[in-house]
Amino acid sequence: MYELYEQLLPTKLYTKEGGKTQASTDGEVLCRLCGKVAESVAHVLAGCSSLAQTKYLYRHNAALKILFFELLREHGLTEEVSPWYSPVMPKPAYQNTTSEAFWDVPIYAEHNEARVNRIDARLVSHERKEVCTIEMSGPWIESRAKKDEEKTLK
Ligand SMILES: [Zn+2]
Repeated sequence: MYELYEQLLPTKLYTKEGGKTQASTDGEVLCRLCGKVAESVAHVLAGCSSLAQTKYLYRHNAALKILFFELLREHGLTEEVSPWYSPVMPKPAYQNTTSEAFWDVPIYAEHNEARVNRIDARLVSHERKEVCTIEMSGPWIESRAKKDEEKTLK
């Protein structure tokens, strides 16, 4: 964990540059997965296009589902909350007489002005007359401000 935190893992960039983590255009340090960018800890954990639709998506969903299941229980939409390490994933939709919840379900607007229609998680409380939308992301530290902006805009 210390090596991971301090970015001392034997990535190609670390091995080649003796610990420097600056991006390099040298072909010898390119990522073994995507082959496009220097292989650093930051790249492997949060920037590799080869992992975006598989490992990163799984991590994203595994983290968000913990909060989502707690919200489902709070709204009486489920009685059982699996432990965080359980492979159980949320269903696309939950419904009772007062609330509804959706997991990664597109919203179909009446008008075409809704440019972004895929929200990570959404809770509708008819009783409280409120809608809660949740967007989740797991960016690298330097990308947090940019990602915050992106998600807020969405
Ligand atoms: Zn890569």
